[in-house]
Amino acid sequence: MSDRLQALADPKSLCGDGLALLSMGQVQSLWRCQRLDGRGLTFHKEKALKPLTLGQFIGKPNVRVRIRCRGNGCKFFRVWRVEEMIAGLEKRGQGNGRTDIDELGAKMTTACPMCKRVNWTADLLWVNTETMGWKALGERSFEARET
Ligand SMILES: [Zn+2]
Repeated sequence: MSDRLQALADPKSLCGDGLALLSMGQVQSLWRCQRLDGRGLTFHKEKALKPLTLGQFIGKPNVRVRIRCRGNGCKFFRVWRVEEMIAGLEKRGQGNGRTDIDELGAKMTTACPMCKRVNWTADLLWVNTETMGWKALGERSFEARET
């Protein structure tokens, strides 16, 4: 028996199934081997070879940048259009379209209105444009997720 466990994930079809935000923890438990001497997958956080930059998402109406507070139990977040985020960074001299999305959180220096901490993280919200929800609501799909 081969000593290697091979697992394939196709991001495009996962997104198509509405699993764009599938967490690595879910994947790990799915692929845990059921044998007694079984093994599982471990993930290591490494810097992406090709980091995602804001500029890659200009002009995509189905993408938003979410800035989320990581304060203790705090759930505060705000959602921005990519273009608004870039304009804000440029205005403050903190970045531009080439800014890595991973680095955005650290650039936010305003305290959270809920918990008063400065501890932000950034991610992307993405809505599948093939879904009925998007076809019916379009960019209003994000309103339910905005505060
Ligand atoms: Zn907070």
